[in-house]
Amino acid sequence: MRLALLGYEQTASMDRADLIIINTCSVRAKAEQKAFSLLGRLARMKRNKRGLIIGVGGCVAQQEGEKILGRMPSVDLVFGTQAIDRLPRLIQQIETRRCRLVDVEMDEIAGIPEFLNGRRTESQVSKFVTVMRGCDNYCAYCVVPFVRGRETSREPESIIREIRVLVENGVKEVTLLGQNVNSYGKKQGLCSFPELLARIDEIEGLLRIRFTTSHPKDLSPGLITAFGDLEKLCPHIHLPVQSGSNRILKRMNRKYTIEQYLDKVAKLRDTCSNIAITSDMIVGFPGETEADFEKTLELIKTVEYDGLFAFQYSDRPSAPSVKLPHKISEPIKRERLQTLLALQEKFTKSKNKALVGSTQWVLTDGLSKKQASGQADAANPALQWTGRTPSNKIVNFYLDGHPDAKHSLTGQIIGVRIDKAFSHSLFGKAIGAELPAGGLKGVENYAA
Ligand code: SAM
Ligand code: SF4
Repeated sequence: MRLALLGYEQTASMDRADLIIINTCSVRAKAEQKAFSLLGRLARMKRNKRGLIIGVGGCVAQQEGEKILGRMPSVDLVFGTQAIDRLPRLIQQIETRRCRLVDVEMDEIAGIPEFLNGRRTESQVSKFVTVMRGCDNYCAYCVVPFVRGRETSREPESIIREIRVLVENGVKEVTLLGQNVNSYGKKQGLCSFPELLARIDEIEGLLRIRFTTSHPKDLSPGLITAFGDLEKLCPHIHLPVQSGSNRILKRMNRKYTIEQYLDKVAKLRDTCSNIAITSDMIVGFPGETEADFEKTLELIKTVEYDGLFAFQYSDRPSAPSVKLPHKISEPIKRERLQTLLALQEKFTKSKNKALVGSTQWVLTDGLSKKQASGQADAANPALQWTGRTPSNKIVNFYLDGHPDAKHSLTGQIIGVRIDKAFSHSLFGKAIGAELPAGGLKGVENYAA
C-alpha cells in the first residue's frame, strides 16, 4: 500500500493505530448504520489519543460527503470512491496542516488504478481482480450508479498483467469483479467479456477463474458457451434475480421477465449440467403484494438455487424507489425474509447432501478455521484444511496418515471424499487422488 511511503505500517490491533481508515458500503441501510456505529466507538477512542487520524472512504463517504464531518467531529478525512489514488496526498496534508478534508470528486471517465486489487481477502491462493467499476443500469432500488459513477471497463492488457503478477506470487484462483460483467468492454470498444475470459484461461499457472456479477438481461450466449468451453472457468454463476414477479421486476427496472430468466437458467444447465446457480433476492420492495411474494417462493422452488443472498428492501438516498408509494412495513418484510430463507435452507441442505459420497476437487486455501484457532477435533490428530469446490462450496477436510501430511496443501487442488454435509459447508477426507482418465487439464494434484 502506498501509505507505506509515508511511514505507515499495519498494526494487529486498532488500539495501536495512528491512522484508521473505514471503508464503507451504502448499498443497504444496515451497512451504513454499522459504519456510523463504528465511527462512534472510534470517537471515544480518539478522546484518549489526540493525534489519531480517522478517515472514511467508500460509498457512504461518496454519498454523504461533508455531512460526515458535521455529524462526526472526530473524523479528519472523507474520501469518495474515486479518491483512493489521492489518499497518500490527503493524509500528508492532514499530518502537516492538522486540517479536516473532504474529497468526493468523481470523474466520468476515470480509469481503474492498476494493482489496486488483489489484496481484499486474507487468502494468498484466491484473489479478487476488478475488471470494471460503476454501473449504468439504474435499478430502481440501487444507489451504486450514484456513488460509484458511470460504468468503466479496465483495459484487458492491464487485467492480464495484474493476474500474471498475482500468479507469479502464488495465486491460483481469481474472481473477476464488476457490477455487470456482461457489459464489460462494450462502451469503450474493448474485447467482450467471454473474450477476456478466454485470454485469462490461457494464463499458465492459474488454475481457476470465477466472476461476479452477471445481470440476467445481458447474459450472452457467448458467456453461456464459455462454461462449456473454458477449462479453468468454474461451474458457478451468481445470477441475481431480485424477485419472482414480473410486475415487481418492472417496477425495479430490471429489464427482463421471469420467463426470459428461466430460459437462460435452462441454457446454462444444458451447457454445463453441474453448474451451481446462486442469486440475490429483495423482499418487501414497495408495492410487493402477498401474491408477488408467492411468485418469488415459486421461482426458488423452480430453480432450486444452490444458495441465496436475500435482503429486506431499504430506501437508499438518490435511488428512484424512495419515491414509490405502498412501502411495506418492517414486520412484513422481516416475516417474508424469514419465510424465504427457511425455504432456501431446504434446497441448500439437500444440494449439499447430494454430494455425500462423491469426490470433490478442492482448491486448498489453508488450514481450517478450527485448526488455525486450536479447536480442531482432538480425537483426530490429522491436520484439518479448508478450500472450495469448483462450484464454490466450502469443504473442510483432513488428510489421514498420508506420508506428506505435514506438508502444506495450501494452493493445491486435492481430491476429497465428502463424508458429511452441513448447511453451509461440507466435510470430508483427502483421498490418494486418482485423477479421471487423462487427468484434469490445469489441475495440479497433490497425489498425482
Ligand atoms: N450489480 C449486482 C446486480 O445487478 O445484481 C448487484 C449489486 S448490489 C451491490 C448487491 C445486492 O444488494 C443486490 O443484488 C440487491 O439484492 C441488494 N440491494 C441493492 N440495493 C438494495 C436496497 N435498496 N435494499 C435491499 N437490498 C438491496
Ligand atoms: Fe445496482 Fe442494478 Fe447496477 Fe446491480 S445492475 S449495481 S443492482 S443498478
